[in-house]
Amino acid sequence: MNCIFCRIARNEIKSDKVYEDNDLICIKDINPQAPVHILIIPKKHVEKLYEVEDLILLGKMLKIACQIAEKEGIKESGFRIVINTNRNAGQSVEHVHVHLLGGRIMMWPPG
Ligand code: 5GP
Ligand code: ZN
Repeated sequence: MNCIFCRIARNEIKSDKVYEDNDLICIKDINPQAPVHILIIPKKHVEKLYEVEDLILLGKMLKIACQIAEKEGIKESGFRIVINTNRNAGQSVEHVHVHLLGGRIMMWPPG
């Protein structure tokens, strides 16, 4: 696949990696919306959250996000997990990914 996250996963595009294994790559967002803003990206190309069929992988994405939150020192203060899906939510990259955001107070309701 020629999508940007597939290319990052193949190391064709440089990224600031914080974690990698056979299934996932986790990188710092290029346009951070909080002091900590990390993307948890499955290496397999699936576009939408509702198209993910591998429930183990889906759970692993959340588990790894929590482990990174701890490593980044935002577990106790708090963090937010976001999965934007389709136009109204503002999904801009058509390859499913989890946003891990923290390091500041978050607003609710979200914008
Ligand atoms: P979405 O808008 O689809 O929920 O999230 C896509 C995210 O990917 C955005 O926060 C955007 O800043 C980030 N992003 C887009 N292109 C790149 C890139 O080439 N490198 C990195 N590290 N992040 C990217
Ligand atoms: Zn992709």
